[in-house]
Amino acid sequence: MKPAVRSLAAYTLAARRAAIKLNQNENPFDLQERIKRRVVEQALERPWSRYPEFDPKELLLRLAAFSSWKADGILAGNGSNELIEALLVVTVAAGTRVVIPETTFTLYALLTKVLGGDVLTVPLGPELEYDAAELRKLRVGVDAPLSIVCSPNNPTGGVMPLREIARMCEEADGLVVVDEAYHEFSRQSAVPLLAEHPNLVVLRTFSKAMALAGLRVGYLLAAPLLVREINKARLPYNLNFFSQMAAMAALDEWDALRKTVLRLIEARDDLLHKLYRVPGVKPYPSEANFILFELQEADPKAVFEAIYKRGVLVRDVTGYPRLQRCLRVSIGSEEQNEAFLAALRHALEEQRFQRGSK
Ligand code: PMP
Repeated sequence: MKPAVRSLAAYTLAARRAAIKLNQNENPFDLQERIKRRVVEQALERPWSRYPEFDPKELLLRLAAFSSWKADGILAGNGSNELIEALLVVTVAAGTRVVIPETTFTLYALLTKVLGGDVLTVPLGPELEYDAAELRKLRVGVDAPLSIVCSPNNPTGGVMPLREIARMCEEADGLVVVDEAYHEFSRQSAVPLLAEHPNLVVLRTFSKAMALAGLRVGYLLAAPLLVREINKARLPYNLNFFSQMAAMAALDEWDALRKTVLRLIEARDDLLHKLYRVPGVKPYPSEANFILFELQEADPKAVFEAIYKRGVLVRDVTGYPRLQRCLRVSIGSEEQNEAFLAALRHALEEQRFQRGSK
């Protein structure tokens, strides 16, 4: 085993069951049964003994129309995780410098280290916002071949303004990767910048707004020249035909899905305002389908467990740099969000009572 791998902690998630699951930023509204049935019917017509297409051409054409980008500038993958991996495999060798803000989605740094690359981190600002100036400075200073920005950022919820992304692309030739797993909730996307910036790579997923996390579909958009190279590290037949069909069905249903996205945006803003009014809680503004919040006095792990006892599972992010006092809650249905708020208030009161009686 490579020493760089042995020294790493794995990306894991404790499997816990809960009546109200708000820990993985999934869409709380499943695809309608009639749509699922249509996909199953289509799948029944195909021989399951045969491989899917080598290139999922129809899906790529549909994704091109959906995202207003060229089909030969798109790669589809088994979740966007797989495409992050393919991208890093073709770019990161021993000692390759990869600039990544801290704190962000942990997979970028993990895979970079597995591949022997050097992770150079740029701290977030005082309110956990992106520090675009520092990021740009470091990237240009070390002539980084690769910089990765998650926008909106998981787990903080903030975005990198598009003009900053454009500036990064212009200031140096290194690739600028923008992970847009949550872009539908922010109403901003770097995809329109692709035409002008051949060093830009955008990653997207069907796991959040598109409500298909269980079927693992993601896609990558970039200049066709880049896509041809990244494609060399994609495993053959990476996307099974069932998932391809489901992704196309989700695209067909975009009008309905968009309504649930708007509903989730409203629910997020409503929950944010309510959290501002809970004493001892500091929520961070979010443009994604989750909210990070800090517990100013209460013990976050105890609050996490107390919320869980009341049937609501959130994400314990206390292990992330700078987030020792934080938890993250995904936006659920209005009822689920209310149940979470009630459980949180109860947990905080319980803790206040315990502290008072000590
Ligand atoms: N990027 C970010 C920022 C994420 O939060 C996630 C999911 N947790 C992913 C990528 C991976 O998504 P997928 O399900 O498409 O692999």
